[in-house]
Amino acid sequence: MLLASLTTIQLGGNAKEYISCKTQDDITAALIYAKEKKLKIHVLGGGSNSIFADAGFDGLVIHIQTTGISAEKTDAAVYLTAQAGEPWDDVVQYAIKNNLTGIECLSGIPGSCGGTPFQNVGAYGQEVAQTISYVDVIDRNSLQNIRFTNDECNFGYRTSRFKVQDFNKYIILSVTFRLIPSGTPNIRYGELSSLVSETSSLQEIRDAVLQLRKKKSMLIDPADPNSISCGSFFTNPIISAAEFETVQKNISEEIPSYESAGDKKLSAAWLVEHAGFTKGTTRGNVGISEHHSLALVNNGGTTQALLQFANEIQTAVENKFNIKLVLEPLVIPS
Ligand SMILES: Cc1cc2nc3c(=O)[nH]c(=O)nc-3n(C[C@H](O)[C@H](O)[C@H](O)COP(=O)(O)OP(=O)(O)OC[C@H]3O[C@@H](n4cnc5c(N)ncnc54)[C@H](O)[C@@H]3O)c2cc1C
Repeated sequence: MLLASLTTIQLGGNAKEYISCKTQDDITAALIYAKEKKLKIHVLGGGSNSIFADAGFDGLVIHIQTTGISAEKTDAAVYLTAQAGEPWDDVVQYAIKNNLTGIECLSGIPGSCGGTPFQNVGAYGQEVAQTISYVDVIDRNSLQNIRFTNDECNFGYRTSRFKVQDFNKYIILSVTFRLIPSGTPNIRYGELSSLVSETSSLQEIRDAVLQLRKKKSMLIDPADPNSISCGSFFTNPIISAAEFETVQKNISEEIPSYESAGDKKLSAAWLVEHAGFTKGTTRGNVGISEHHSLALVNNGGTTQALLQFANEIQTAVENKFNIKLVLEPLVIPS
């Protein structure tokens, strides 16, 4: 199976073996098969935050394609459970159609539902950690089923236990969200609040988010070459107030920053631009999106070229600001 065909950045060679899992039993069977054959495993969801090597993957790619959404009503909330392989935006649309508040600002993010807890997906002032009630997983080694409550997921900015301490330990089977029927939407993000308000319908909020995302090529659109990406390529750095002071002292421009639990969150996009990389910069067949300075795009290039360009950006930002940008997508070694 050509992995480039399964990722939004359209990069990567062949997988040695590939199994598409449409049920939870398929997932268990794939894990047993990998153990018997002593194959290393990579778990793939929607492929929107994954970069495979040009040499491909010398093991088994387990593609999570389980589907199904169910909802259970209690007095104050609706618990919506979606199987891991459900396309994330279908989950958002289901919630909006049923007038369930809590994930509307996350409209249009590509990938699978199971991918969302991995890096605590977020956009326009919302992140899944705000509504996830629990996550059901299977232990890749013991095949035991485990439920993690929201607190146990260790969510943080673009992170969770699944990305850090339990990396490669579990397969996420389903995610349950606690949503509020006819709740008041929380419009926190400046750009969005100029288009909609708390009295807007969930559909109006979705439409506004999609409109903003389209302008930035942050919606997958086969007609838009700027959307052949992984979304943001670098996370926004978070540094202590003291570190920020030192960085700012050495730079004449005022560096924009936001408070984040006593620390300072910086805009990776601003740092990239001010290190000399404008939108539309290219290096051969890879480059920066013409519509978003944080999205690296592929226009017939290779993983090697993309990572070399990312490294060039990281080095320039580090040389100028003494800040190391961290990659948001997962780079999967062959
Ligand atoms: C155009 C574009 C816009 C984007 N905008 C945003 C945005 O606004 N906000 C944001 O946060 N992200 C954004 N992203 C990044 C990406 O869409 C999200 O991170 C998404 O949740 C990734 O899900 P996926 O299923 O595609 O994951 P994949 O790319 O398939 O996998 C990513 C990681 O998650 C793991 N994983 C996936 N599914 C499972 C599972 N079931 N069990 C265990 N591990 C699993 C994989 O092993 C891998 O380590 C964007 C990407 C693109 C291309």
